[in-house]
Amino acid sequence: MRAALLFGLEDLRVLEVADPVPGPGDVLVRVEAATTCGTDVKTWRRGHPLLPPYPAPLGHETCGVREDTGERVLVGDSVACGTCRSCAAGRPQICREPRWIFGGFAELIAAPEAALHRVPDGLEPAAAAMAEPLAAAVHALARAPAKAVAPDAGVLGGGPMGQMLAALLLAEGRTVTLADRHAERRAQAEAAGAMSAEALADHDVVFEAVGRPDAWRAAVEACAPGGCVVFVGGCKAGTDASLPTRPLHYEELDLRGAFHHAPEEVDRALALLASGALDWRALAAGPIGLDDLQQALAAGNEGPARKWVVIP
Ligand SMILES: [Zn+2]
Ligand SMILES: [Zn+2]
Repeated sequence: MRAALLFGLEDLRVLEVADPVPGPGDVLVRVEAATTCGTDVKTWRRGHPLLPPYPAPLGHETCGVREDTGERVLVGDSVACGTCRSCAAGRPQICREPRWIFGGFAELIAAPEAALHRVPDGLEPAAAAMAEPLAAAVHALARAPAKAVAPDAGVLGGGPMGQMLAALLLAEGRTVTLADRHAERRAQAEAAGAMSAEALADHDVVFEAVGRPDAWRAAVEACAPGGCVVFVGGCKAGTDASLPTRPLHYEELDLRGAFHHAPEEVDRALALLASGALDWRALAAGPIGLDDLQQALAAGNEGPARKWVVIP
């Protein structure tokens, strides 16, 4: 099969390699579409702690067809261990020993059956692949106060994750302001029905979707008294953020991390996409083939919020 493999920093090569051999409990899936995400760009540039040794498979938002049953599935990017303290507490998204699944940028991927999610009939492969990041947005909303308590939401960061958060919050009937320094990302949010700004202020709930310490601080500063900040963007490993203590104490702000998603949230994301709740096409770029992937990753995370649709 043909596969895009990462041989080192900024060194992605497309090669003819042996088909993956499914281990016990694994299923072989023929990839129809895989989408890129900001994490892929960062991984290509500076590596990633979860990546297997080079040459490493890449791509974790993957839709394809099971070779054994012919069923169309989303290949989830992880399977929780089921036995650790987090799993026992019903929080598989923070499992201590998950198995991560990479390799969507290839013609075939072997994945544990437990990672597969049936794709609703009629949903396009590229849309189904986007259920993986959308599930993280679904999870972030589940970590936030409900609309009745927090009707006015701010979203800091207008990349694909920020746009998905805004869309889900709007679908719940909240007022949403999205802040980003890129005019084209503010325009995307407005097209979806949100308000836009260069900076946020005084929101019941603020979602941080940038992943930088200065943005973490700005999110706290933009939260109304008694409000909640949900940190969705992961900062570079080893990063500290300095946060103002006054509102944390005197305004009783709730600070909550949101990481990854649980399997039910992936199914919920697939159902939302099938219902048309998210205009996924507004975030889709391409389609491109494996040979154009390195150039797409090199274009980086600047410009409009977009996810490249890769058809291997
Ligand atoms: Zn992703
Ligand atoms: Zn676990």
